[in-house]
Order: sequence, then C-alpha cells, then structure tokens
Amino acid sequence: MQDDIQSVLISEQQLADAVKKLGEQISRDYADRNLMMVSVLKGSVVFMADLMRAISVPASIDFMSVTSYGKGVKTSGVVRIIKDLDEELDGRDILIVEDILDSGMTLSYLKEHIMAKGARSIRIATLLDKPERRRVDIHPDYSCFSVPDEFVVGYGLDYAEKYRNLPYVGILKPCVYEK
Ligand code: 5GP
Ligand code: MG
Ligand code: MG
Repeated sequence: MQDDIQSVLISEQQLADAVKKLGEQISRDYADRNLMMVSVLKGSVVFMADLMRAISVPASIDFMSVTSYGKGVKTSGVVRIIKDLDEELDGRDILIVEDILDSGMTLSYLKEHIMAKGARSIRIATLLDKPERRRVDIHPDYSCFSVPDEFVVGYGLDYAEKYRNLPYVGILKPCVYEK
C-alpha cells in the first residue's frame, strides 16, 4: 500500500493539529446553536471521528452516502443519493463534514438537498480544498488544508476503495490509476 504513494502531503501530526484547531473554532461558533454534523460517507469518516471529538459543544450526528465517482479519478458530475439522513432537520444548524471539495458538484447538490429538508442553517467543513478544480461557485466555511491538483488518498480518502486506512494524506502515484 505504501509503495503506491508518491509522497506524504499531510502528516499524521499535521492532521491532528489542524483538526484540533478546527474543533475549537467550531465549538466557539456553535456555542449557542443546535449543531448537527452530517458526514458524507465514506471519505469523511476518519475526519468526522476526529473532528467530533475535538468539538466541546453538544452535537448530534448523521450520515449520508452519495456517489459521483465510481472507480475513476474525475467526477461524473452526476450525484446520486445512496443513503439519506435519518434525523429530522427542522431548526438544526447543519455542518456538512466532507473529505475534499474538488469540483464542488457533490456539495452544491447536498447543500440544496439539506436546505430543502428544513435546516435552519448549513455550513461546510472540509478537510481538504482543491480550489483549482472548482466547476461551481461554492466555498467551504471551514477547511483545514488547500491541496494542489493531484489525486490524494489516505485519512479516509480512497482510490477504488483502497488506501482509506492510511493515517496520513498522500499523493497517489499516477501509474496506479493510469494502468
Ligand atoms: P466534487 O463533487 O467536489 O468534485 O467531488 C467530491 C468527491 O470526489 C470527494 O468527496 C471525493 O470522494 C472525491 N475526490 C475528489 N478529489 C479527490 C482526490 O484527490 N482524491 C480522492 N481520493 N477523492 C477525491
Ligand atoms: Mg466525499
Ligand atoms: Mg472515493
């Protein structure tokens, strides 16, 4: 698995420090709100698990599963809901927790979907932001790292369902997906 990684982009320690700092900021911002964290499966699970424990104000959680990628490395542009939210959203302040904001197609779709369900507010927390690749006008409210236009894996992010359990974020060798 490690042999497929070209270089480590964000180390385990850098991830831990950034997530802790973000948790503190979100705790301040949501002190008097009704926070519900919505993790977008599967890529954000590791970030979600760490971030929720770095938040010191009451928070409920829920999960959604969507797909737009299949096995490739470029978005198909079509977002499909595989698992919707279980909880009622009325009056909740939703924080969407994502692994990476790339073209923005997934999150712009999700934002509208969640707003239509009656949320009071919606913000986006993404671990990684790849602004060069944006195709729709969407910005994260919280983001830990900006990354270059490379395909990254680890800390929840996959290529063809592999590499999610790497403890760091690394750049995948192009030969892995150009085969
Ligand atoms: P968007 O809709 O913003 O183009 O894509 C968002 C989703 O595409 C992410 O949640 C992630 O699953 C996938 N994605 C985009 N860029 C990368 C990347 O560099 N590495 C990995 N592993 N997934 C990515
Ligand atoms: Mg994702
Ligand atoms: Mg993926």
